[in-house]
Amino acid sequence: MSSQPLQVADTLQWATRLLTAAGVDSPRLDAELLLGQVLGCDRARLRAFWADDLSAPTARRYAALVQRRAQREPVAYLLGQRPFYDIALEVTPAVLVPRPETEHLVEAALAWARRQPRPGLRIVDVGTGSGAIAIVLARHLPAAQVLAVDLSGAALQVARRNVARLGLAHRVALLQADLLTPLAGSFDLIVANLPYVDCDELPTLMPEVSRFEPSVALDGGPGGLVIVQRLMGALTERLAPGGLAMFELDPRQMAAARTLALGAVPAAAVDVIYDYAGHERVLTVERRAG
Ligand code: GLN
Repeated sequence: MSSQPLQVADTLQWATRLLTAAGVDSPRLDAELLLGQVLGCDRARLRAFWADDLSAPTARRYAALVQRRAQREPVAYLLGQRPFYDIALEVTPAVLVPRPETEHLVEAALAWARRQPRPGLRIVDVGTGSGAIAIVLARHLPAAQVLAVDLSGAALQVARRNVARLGLAHRVALLQADLLTPLAGSFDLIVANLPYVDCDELPTLMPEVSRFEPSVALDGGPGGLVIVQRLMGALTERLAPGGLAMFELDPRQMAAARTLALGAVPAAAVDVIYDYAGHERVLTVERRAG
């Protein structure tokens, strides 16, 4: 690190060059986010420090973070948090980093829930990870009962801290379970960002994903739909009449997933929601009322 400059502006340039060479997608942004982290300020305020020198310990801490990012560790893990919808969530390597795609699922779920005539919707987020979907739904649907389920105890600990920090401990119940297996009763809204990556494709994903994110949150088995299909198989029992299930998926899986859904829930209304990039992203399965 002897060649690392100490002045903030030069340090940022050094870090940006290093991250560019490492193949990082947004090198300047990440360099700034990590510098904000060591200086304890947000990106917008970094300019105030432009001409300052970093102290040697701060420069060392920054260099260590930049080196980790250059090894392609996700910036969200280095910062320990990630913005999602209208909140910031704690994230650790025990949970998938919440993605912008998932905000589509949340928006569509909120829109559907607000159209329902009955209050007190029973909602379950299956494979909650950091708690992202469950927490946003609970915040915006004050009458709903929200349950968040995950197979991973380590993920649930992160979700529990997020739920508590956002003041929702009384609103969001957390449960360690394999999908909905141990539960009785049915739900009005089932939301699921389950693992859906084809296991053969997992090693080909960006290093941030394949090397650092938990494979238990990504690996959907051969073809990617193994776990999704299991949950679909439970829908006739677990989805209340008139209820909606939503699955975040890879656009390439939609045709196959649609067929699976129609096979699992006869006479369901199956639809697709597009993401900002215009890709089919969320499959919705609405069970006919009555
Ligand atoms: N969207 C994630 C990815 O492409 C996959 C998330 C998931 O499997 N639920 O890396």
